[in-house]
Amino acid sequence: MKPFKKCPVCGGELEDKQVEKLLRGGGNTVSMKVSAEVCLHCGERLYAEEVVKSFEEIRGKLR
Ligand SMILES: [Zn+2]
Repeated sequence: MKPFKKCPVCGGELEDKQVEKLLRGGGNTVSMKVSAEVCLHCGERLYAEEVVKSFEEIRGKLR
């Protein structure tokens, strides 16, 4: 699934990458590897909707 074709910030090319995302909540920090579209020009990270949802789920558990 490709939610974006171009970077919405600078219009640069996007590449699928595995990135490390840190989630903090309730004094805990969780690090998870997720796939994201990363802008080759400005480094902006774009996450798919289901990835954002999983962030929210995990944040809810950390509270
Ligand atoms: Zn960009």
